[in-house]
Amino acid sequence: MDLNLTPQEQQFRDELRAWLARNVPRDWERHRLEDTMHERFAFLREWQRKVYDGGWAGVAWPRAYGGRGASLMEQVIFTEEMGREGAPPLANILGLSLIGPTIIAFGTEAQKKRYLPKILSAEEIWCQGFSEPNAGSDLANVRTDAHIDGDHFVINGQKVWNSYGWAADWCALLTRTDPESQKHKGLTYVLVDMRSPGVEVRPLLQMTGETEFAEIFFHDVRVPVENALGPVGDGWNVAIGTLMHERATLGAAVQVAYRKQLDRLLELSHTVERNGRPAADDPVMRQKLGQCHAELEIMRLNQMRSLSRLNKTGVPGAEGSIQKIYWSEFNQRFQQVAMEMLGPYGQLAKGSPGAIDDGIWAYSFLRARGNTIEAGTSEIQRNIVGHFVLGLPKSY
Ligand SMILES: Cc1cc2nc3c(=O)[nH]c(=O)nc-3n(C[C@H](O)[C@H](O)[C@H](O)COP(=O)(O)OP(=O)(O)OC[C@H]3O[C@@H](n4cnc5c(N)ncnc54)[C@H](O)[C@@H]3O)c2cc1C
Repeated sequence: MDLNLTPQEQQFRDELRAWLARNVPRDWERHRLEDTMHERFAFLREWQRKVYDGGWAGVAWPRAYGGRGASLMEQVIFTEEMGREGAPPLANILGLSLIGPTIIAFGTEAQKKRYLPKILSAEEIWCQGFSEPNAGSDLANVRTDAHIDGDHFVINGQKVWNSYGWAADWCALLTRTDPESQKHKGLTYVLVDMRSPGVEVRPLLQMTGETEFAEIFFHDVRVPVENALGPVGDGWNVAIGTLMHERATLGAAVQVAYRKQLDRLLELSHTVERNGRPAADDPVMRQKLGQCHAELEIMRLNQMRSLSRLNKTGVPGAEGSIQKIYWSEFNQRFQQVAMEMLGPYGQLAKGSPGAIDDGIWAYSFLRARGNTIEAGTSEIQRNIVGHFVLGLPKSY
């Protein structure tokens, strides 16, 4: 693939740079460090609205639904430039990266018009309701029941680990509409208004101290049948669409965040001491930092390769699983290096006197543990690569 920008891409980048230079909120760092999770989310929601009003949200989404109608390469440029300028992330992360693209692929015209613009403007925040206590890796074991009563589904069941469940206005819910069915058959993907009577959200406390995700309980929740995304009974295919986008696109966003963190760690290596001298002079630390840089470059180039394929075929391939394994396991190695370099002060949490960068390193180390679980565990991704990329027999 050609990694040079075309004249059109350069023009896009220059316009974007000028817009970001004028509009990126300069007090983001203070909000990131000092706000509660809810305050920070409100700030990010407002920021996304500004990005939308500026015409930069949904760079590669069709214009008819509020997007910019540009290419995936321009979407990548957008992500990279946001990182370069130190811009805050966009609030509606699941709507933008997983659920919106699934609605584009499987939605009716009415659904696209109804939901997509409000995902882009952050007017409506989305969460993903797939996992259940007995259906995680084995997602086809979903038991949340949605039986049809007239022109409504009546939904009963429980979901778990739902990121942004506490903030969401809508949920992309995987349900079982045929109680006699097994596994991949008889499932339906339903778009559920989180304010419907009978929806109960219970936040889950994580070891980072945040309640980033929640459990969601459904008690006789009535949802119009027209809210099915794709045909009733064909939810598995639609859900796979969401999962493939999740694996293929999350890598692009995290890669930019990791680069910023590595740059900051390199800066700190000149002042933090290891073995009586700056960490930057310590031969072992230098080796480890060099390794992180090399791995991050590999991640960036592989990301370009899988996006280039997505650009050509329009569908994310199983190699998204390679990216998922790579970024999640890289981040755990990288956060370990950061802990080794920063020493005990790096382990201090937000608010502790002496905590380096007000505890962001301790937070990032703990948060990285979930990376090899969320969006499908490393074991499951390796099974997918084994079967779909290498042609090995199925693992079950
Ligand atoms: C930070 C975070 C955010 C999340 N956000 C969401 C969200 O927004 N929405 C949502 O629906 N879910 C979300 N999840 C849930 C996530 O998708 C599941 O946790 C994940 O799919 C694993 O399922 P499980 O927890 O039930 O573990 P299990 O499936 O019970 O797995 C337990 C262990 O067994 C291994 N294992 C299972 N089956 C196999 C196999 N066939 N071969 C080899 N090993 C196997 C797994 O790799 C794992 O190590 C999130 C999880 C995390 C950590």
